[in-house]
Amino acid sequence: MEELESQFRGWGQPAYRVKQLLEWLYVHRVSKWEAMTNLPRRLREELRQHYSLTSLELVRKQGAPDTTEKFLWRLSDGALIESVLIPANPALYGEPSDRHTLCVSTQVGCAYGCKFCASGLAGWKRHLRVEEIVEQLLAVERWNAGAGREARGEGRGVEVQSLESGVPSQGLGREELEDGVRDPATRIANCQSSISDQAANAPRPSTLTPPPRLVSNLVIMGMGEPLANYENLLKALKILNAPWGGGIGARKITISTSGLAPQIRKLADEPFQFRLAVSLHGATDATRNKIMPVNRKYPLGELMAACEYYERKKGRMMTFEYVLIAGVNDGLDQVKPLAGLARRLNAKVNLIPYNRVEGLAWEQPSDAAQEAFVKALVKQKVSATLRREKGGDIDAACGQLRLKTERELVGTAS
Ligand code: SAH
Ligand code: SF4
Repeated sequence: MEELESQFRGWGQPAYRVKQLLEWLYVHRVSKWEAMTNLPRRLREELRQHYSLTSLELVRKQGAPDTTEKFLWRLSDGALIESVLIPANPALYGEPSDRHTLCVSTQVGCAYGCKFCASGLAGWKRHLRVEEIVEQLLAVERWNAGAGREARGEGRGVEVQSLESGVPSQGLGREELEDGVRDPATRIANCQSSISDQAANAPRPSTLTPPPRLVSNLVIMGMGEPLANYENLLKALKILNAPWGGGIGARKITISTSGLAPQIRKLADEPFQFRLAVSLHGATDATRNKIMPVNRKYPLGELMAACEYYERKKGRMMTFEYVLIAGVNDGLDQVKPLAGLARRLNAKVNLIPYNRVEGLAWEQPSDAAQEAFVKALVKQKVSATLRREKGGDIDAACGQLRLKTERELVGTAS
């Protein structure tokens, strides 16, 4: 907002124009300059010359509304990233689920190379830019307001089939998703703007019905290590958190990290109450070293000290993520040290059965072994949950859809 205000001052535009623009972007979530009918045509032209409105193109989508849905986006340089939409309560008896969590990516690939993870397999390509992080929310909500609604039988429903028919030979054109017909705000606004471009005659955003909000929580657990893209992540989260922007409360935003101790301390010093989840996956240096190369740089002692600092500064508990991998970290010998770390930090432990990645030999433990692990942990007076997979059947673990799609594309090309 501050950047736009300064730009608008330079153009001799009054400050209220920035408010109008932000309302089109974040309340009405339009994706065309023409839709912003209460901005003078000259200003819209100026904006068009200086900025672009969208940076993500939907190339593949898996899962149906009211279940876990996965979106694969192509960026302007051709790179692929993922976002996953998870309903808090999957619709059981046909009623729609209301609250949703969006899992957001922060990098193309990942440099940290955890041995079990699809995102790290092809290495790191680049950081996501601020707008590429922010737009994951906007694009998913646009989808919900348009094609997603049609998929639930509330509209025409034609595009969904083309979206779900595997890897398209070329991506869905932006125009197919954003023809303005499915976005009520855009539809009304486009129609009006063809009649008259006078601000006085144009509909005011407040008279339009904003598209419904879908996402109430964000987890920064998609592809990439968020704290390695620190500056862009923070700026994106400020926008997603701002009342004039995404409007998602800081306490409803969870950042997951593989354990970059110095950045955890830096984040602790920021004035935001973001939640922290630490991907532990091993309670001793020996076990962690086997699967997470980052542990050699920031061993458990250093990581735990940074976590304590974070908790002290924020005054709130964190979560440990622990992916259970058969024969690697699911031995009961890990339970006591894990309980010790969790008690020290008063952290809750989220146990996640490993989600198989094609081409990797790792497996999830048997149900009995998973149950035994969680039981032993609870017996140690630790708050622990075993998270049953949501979205395992749609390759929803970090980096999997991208990996599969890239492999299929290579297969098609050869
Ligand atoms: N880089 C960050 C955030 C992205 S990964 C981090 O590592 O925390 C988000 C979570 O997914 C991490 O806890 C990661 O270990 C986990 N994960 C990665 N691959 C997985 C798989 N195949 N099955 C289950 N969880 C996986
Ligand atoms: Fe990177 Fe996280 Fe995957 Fe490790 S688990 S390779 S840090 S995305």
